[in-house]
Amino acid sequence: MITSPSPGLLVWLDGELIRHEDAHTPIWSNHYGFGVFEGVRAYRTGKRAAIFRVKDHTARLFRSAHILGMPLRQSWRPTDIVQAQVDVIRENELGDAYLRPFVFYDGVRGLTPHTDQLTLRVAVVALPWVTDTARPEERRGISVRTSTYTHNHPNSHLLRAKANANYMTAMLALAEAKSSGADDAILLDQDGCVTEGTAANVFSVRDAEVWTPPVTSVLEGITRETILGFARGMGLEIREERFTRDDLYSADEVFFTGTASEVTPIREIDGRSIGGCEIGPVTRQLAEFYAATVRGCAAQAHKWITLV
Ligand code: PMP
Repeated sequence: MITSPSPGLLVWLDGELIRHEDAHTPIWSNHYGFGVFEGVRAYRTGKRAAIFRVKDHTARLFRSAHILGMPLRQSWRPTDIVQAQVDVIRENELGDAYLRPFVFYDGVRGLTPHTDQLTLRVAVVALPWVTDTARPEERRGISVRTSTYTHNHPNSHLLRAKANANYMTAMLALAEAKSSGADDAILLDQDGCVTEGTAANVFSVRDAEVWTPPVTSVLEGITRETILGFARGMGLEIREERFTRDDLYSADEVFFTGTASEVTPIREIDGRSIGGCEIGPVTRQLAEFYAATVRGCAAQAHKWITLV
């Protein structure tokens, strides 16, 4: 669970470390939700924090900016933004933490943001991450609802980009799911096929086959890719194909993957229990493998870890 910024927290803004309370941006910088961002996790490993797949997240941030036509590459190199993330973890002496790099303009006043008059701004904020012990039921899995909101169409929202405005639908879907007593939502596309959660990719397991929707309709999740690699290594058959909500209802196991959600088992969908409401063996093994990897305790971990 992400916590609130404490007084004196240092954030990186346009190349400088400053106090969170001094990090002001123009009121217009929020306009139209035009911007891109990342969500990255750091984990306490012994004395030093380790940032998981920070180069891959930073590469996605640059791709997102490029897709939206934002000139991030003209001002910054990926190595600068990786270093900014290392610096905010180190200078705030954080261990388990959530990093949020943001790229935005200082003031979009009209619908033509690609103009020379705008200044591109980059911020990196890190907040302590606290495990939510108040919700022990999440260890058994969460309940989700199929949303009444249709997932963003790839020709309207450019789904390869992790863009601020893409999250309007996710926020509406999450609010709807929570108001009906569920923990999260799964969104379907315009044809009724399963896409993803509000901030996570979705997987199902049936008869030793692992299914997940293709990346044409979902965010190309970094955790998704990590988990697909683990599943292949376990000898499981991978099916990156479209499927429908009733495929989820009849699956043996269903789980979400994401930087924040890691591997989150789903025990109930639309009031139907999944696989007897217990965490399934594949989900459990993948979750344990993932937890060991992000903390640097697995053989394949070192290539993905940046020590602070
Ligand atoms: N889909 C959406 C819509 C997301 O917001 C996220 C979280 N970034 C994911 C999937 C999972 O992506 P990742 O594993 O890279 O965090």
